[in-house]
Amino acid sequence: MNSAYCSVAIDGPAGAGKSTIAKAAAARFGFIYVDTGAIYRTVGLAAQRAGIDRAEAEAVTALLPELSIRMDYGPDGTQRMFLNGEDVSAAIRQPEISMYASAVSAVPAVRAFLLDMQRDMAKTSSVVMDGRDIGTVVLPDAGLKIFLTASAEARAKRRLAELLQKGEDCTLQQVMDDMLQRDAQDANRAAAPLRAAEDAVLADTTDFTLEESIEYVCGLIRERFDLEEK
Ligand code: C5P
Repeated sequence: MNSAYCSVAIDGPAGAGKSTIAKAAAARFGFIYVDTGAIYRTVGLAAQRAGIDRAEAEAVTALLPELSIRMDYGPDGTQRMFLNGEDVSAAIRQPEISMYASAVSAVPAVRAFLLDMQRDMAKTSSVVMDGRDIGTVVLPDAGLKIFLTASAEARAKRRLAELLQKGEDCTLQQVMDDMLQRDAQDANRAAAPLRAAEDAVLADTTDFTLEESIEYVCGLIRERFDLEEK
């Protein structure tokens, strides 16, 4: 905690509630919320649009010099992603882009390409940053690291509810299969695999409501940084 800014790293598997919890906690303390999955999704979208097979690491690497990826925050504080100037914030949420994101994120050149962009965010503001390798690779000196998880069933049900609310047509089984495949890929890759940092607080939210999970994370932030909510 040498910096003037506070950094909170939240990692965990898909559907653990990271983004909802991180966003709410960031708002309560006046921190910026950084959704790093959105950055990988933007590269995944670029690969899909370029017609690249998901497994083709070399083609993905060759695409990187052509990509300009930028993020900013809209008037309501929502994180927006831009790919070569186009606002792709909605396009990256299509379910098929999850798999593209997971495939491209296993390519070491992609991770290197996106590293500084993520680190720079924590140099200029207090952040709650969520992803898979924030506590282990992106912000190894984060003042607070949390590894958030929940049972596969609870995670799949939460993800299904989110997708149905957005009008997507899918079943619990499809969501579960996609999620477990993505988790296995993310946890077993060589480059920055999904895992808890040694000094992370492990939080299993299976039996927590969303509000209880947010309260728990805010309690950790209050205690660790000796801060009050705004
Ligand atoms: O968090 P989200 O589900 O949007 O992330 C999409 C994919 O991006 C993940 O499945 C993972 O493969 C990748 N990712 C990553 N490292 C991060 C954030 C996301 O590899 N820090």
